[in-house]
Amino acid sequence: LFAGPVEFLKGVVAMDGLPPADRPELCFAGRSNVGKSSLINALTGRKGLARASNTPGRTQEINYFTLGDSHYLVDLPGYGYAEAPVKIVEKWQRLLKSYLAGRQTLRRAFVLIDARHGVKAVDDEIMKLLDGAAVTFQTVLTKADKVKAADREKVLVQVRGALARHPAAFPEILLTSSEKGDGIATLRAVIEGIG
Ligand code: GDP
Repeated sequence: LFAGPVEFLKGVVAMDGLPPADRPELCFAGRSNVGKSSLINALTGRKGLARASNTPGRTQEINYFTLGDSHYLVDLPGYGYAEAPVKIVEKWQRLLKSYLAGRQTLRRAFVLIDARHGVKAVDDEIMKLLDGAAVTFQTVLTKADKVKAADREKVLVQVRGALARHPAAFPEILLTSSEKGDGIATLRAVIEGIG
């Protein structure tokens, strides 16, 4: 897989807590429950890895993982939780904006979208932030195994339509299933190709 250790490095709550910008990094964003932890685990071949991001206290942090010695994988907190207090959400959005706009070594974002649901309003908001920060993002459909082959094209049409409104969107959409393993090797190859 990745040469060198694949492990949780640290949770970051403020810009001055970011690790040294000494290698390319990519971030993962998605609504809560989209399957982000499962995808990170499948991608790295480490079953419990992304559990670190979902432990209480870490859910509002920018969580750093090493992908061997070559890249950082950055797990952004799941969004779309209506229950989160406004003050917390605002603080988080400030950090997120600073991170996206200010992190020189951030090469690409992966925006995870549930293949059953397509792009929702909250996803569109994140995509707008990425446009504003000029961070190229690639859309990854998750839980593809839950969608019948005949329905996939409908979702793809909806997603392509949504992406057309976002200048930072990368045209290629990846279809994945952490459960079945579909698309995982492709995603890994995409990441390895990010320099
Ligand atoms: P997160 O909140 O985005 O980190 O989401 P999780 O990775 O915790 O997944 C949320 C739920 O979706 C869990 O019950 C997972 O088992 C399920 N899930 C995640 N990925 C897949 C997938 O590829 N296929 C199916 N069928 N279920 C999945």
